[in-house]
This record gives sequence, C-alpha cells and structure tokens, in this order.
Amino acid sequence: MSDLYQVVTIAGKDLGCIANKNIKRGTLISQEKPQCTAFGSQTWDSDWIKSVVSSFNEMSTSDQENYLKLHNRFSDVESLNDVQQKELINRKDQMNKIFNFDDKHEDSKETAMKVHNILNIYGTNAFENGIGIQTAMFNHSCNSNAEAVWVEDSQTSTVRARSNIISGEEITINYISRDLPLKKHLERKEILMSIFFFNCVCKLCKNGKVNDKYDQACKAFEKLKNEAEKMQQACLDLPRPHHHIIRRRVSCYKEMYKIAKEQKASHMFLIHKVLKQGLLASVDGFLDAESQELKEEFRRDCQVFSIASGKIHEILHGSPSQVWQKNNQVLGKRV
Ligand SMILES: [Zn+2]
Repeated sequence: MSDLYQVVTIAGKDLGCIANKNIKRGTLISQEKPQCTAFGSQTWDSDWIKSVVSSFNEMSTSDQENYLKLHNRFSDVESLNDVQQKELINRKDQMNKIFNFDDKHEDSKETAMKVHNILNIYGTNAFENGIGIQTAMFNHSCNSNAEAVWVEDSQTSTVRARSNIISGEEITINYISRDLPLKKHLERKEILMSIFFFNCVCKLCKNGKVNDKYDQACKAFEKLKNEAEKMQQACLDLPRPHHHIIRRRVSCYKEMYKIAKEQKASHMFLIHKVLKQGLLASVDGFLDAESQELKEEFRRDCQVFSIASGKIHEILHGSPSQVWQKNNQVLGKRV
C-alpha cells in the first residue's frame, strides 16, 4: 500500500483512508489490478456466482483476509427495505441450490454463510472490472478530493488526487463519478440509497441538510442542459441554416462547464457530460456553417472543448492522451 495514506476506522463509516502527508492535485495515490473479478455483470445467476467464488479462492491468503474486511452493505438486514430483503432471500436460495448447501447441517450452514458474505462483499464493492481491495477502502463523497479511474492499457484501477489534499484529511472518491455530480441533494440521496444503501454524510450532504448554494448550481446546470438538448432537437425539426441555434447550444455547454468546474465536479463528469457534448455541438456547427467566417468560429469552439478535455485527461491518467493531442493538432490547423 502507498505511504501517502493509511487505512483507519472512521466514526460512522467503518474503514477509510486518511492522508499521511499533503498530496498535490494529480498525484497517483493508488494503483492495482483487481484481485477478484467476476464473469460479466452482476446477474447473480449460476455462472456469475461461481465465477466470484472461484476468483476469491484463487486470491492469496492475505488478499482474502483484506477482502473479508471490506464493507458488506447487506449485513444489516434491518436497514434493508422489503424489496431488498426479499432480493437477499432469493439470492441466498439461489446460492444454496448452486452449491447444495443444507441449512440443517452446521458445517454446511457455516460454509454457506461464508460464501454468501463473499458474494455480498462483491456486490457492495465491485466496480465494473471487479474488486480492487485498495480502491474499495476509499469512502464516497459527492464532492470527492480524489477520483478512481479504470486504465484500459494497464488493466488497472487507479486513484488520483482530484484536488490538493491536506495531511490528515480523509481521501474520498465519488462512486458514481460520471453521473452523480450536479445532482440536487434529494436526488443524490435517492440514487445512493438505491444503489449503495447508505445515507451520504459528505460535506455536501452533511446531516441531511440541503446545501442551497450547490442545489442552486444544480438547477442552473439542469436548465442549461435541457436548453442544449432542445436546441439539438430544433436543428432536426427546423430548416437550415442552424448556426444561431447551434451557437446557443455551444454556449450552453460553455456555461455548464463553468458551473461544473466551480462546483468541483469530477473530471469524468466534466469530460463525458460536458466537454464531449460541447465538442459535438461545435462539430455540428462547423459542418452546418455556410461561410468561412462561421466555420472559423465553430473551429475555435471545437478547439476550446478539445484542449480542456486533453488537459483533464492528463490529470486523470497522469499522461497526455494521444487521441486528444491528435484532435488538438488537427483543430489547430486553420480551415
Ligand atoms: Zn454526499
């Protein structure tokens, strides 16, 4: 494990990661290959269940010990609603059938409980590429100071500092970094409860109180998003030329970027939900443009979104992206 942080018990949260020193924005905090990987997505069918158990059995003893320390959100049955409790019973029945467990025999009952625990820990902590034990130790925050990213080339899960982190501060990641930012408090609460079964106590959600300033920003962001989508539809419905409509669509994404940056939205969100959409709108403008002047205007917009995406990608991955570099090169050439 990195000497940048230590895993400790945090009041009201089980385990969490505390910075041992000041960590600069962009620093690689953790990198690992998932130790436990299941077959396909979480279907809880026979193949999936067997693949989780077999992957767990292939882990080293110390990894298994650390795996079993991870949070199991299904352990407190009382905290689950009726649907979730029913689902838990169905899963248990399914597992007993697959492994021929018999509740009447103590040995069998004990093994069944262990296997059930392994599966539920997987269900609690796995991202789409499996469980990375170090990554799973980081708690969630809706306004996290670090960000977890899957790196395709190295097939690793990484955590990098999203902002400067002070020694002694808890290092947090956003569990739904592409979709949760710029969602109002009640919406976040509902999403996190339905997927992860917890009430978030991050700075934004503290004590369940609504953070008015953030909610106002979410409202403004949502309004711009709806307007941009409406503009996109208008281009399909109305006869050309569309440059006035597309110009507004582009400026919506520029304003959305400003709001999202001010509210420290995750880099994944900035790239995928704002900048890429802004770039697509600018490309539409470029293709629609009937004069050289308009083409030049939208080319510059493409460049703005592309350069910002390249910079963010570099912070997220620790190295420049060839794709964004190539895009910026092409966009730098005048038309
Ligand atoms: Zn929160």
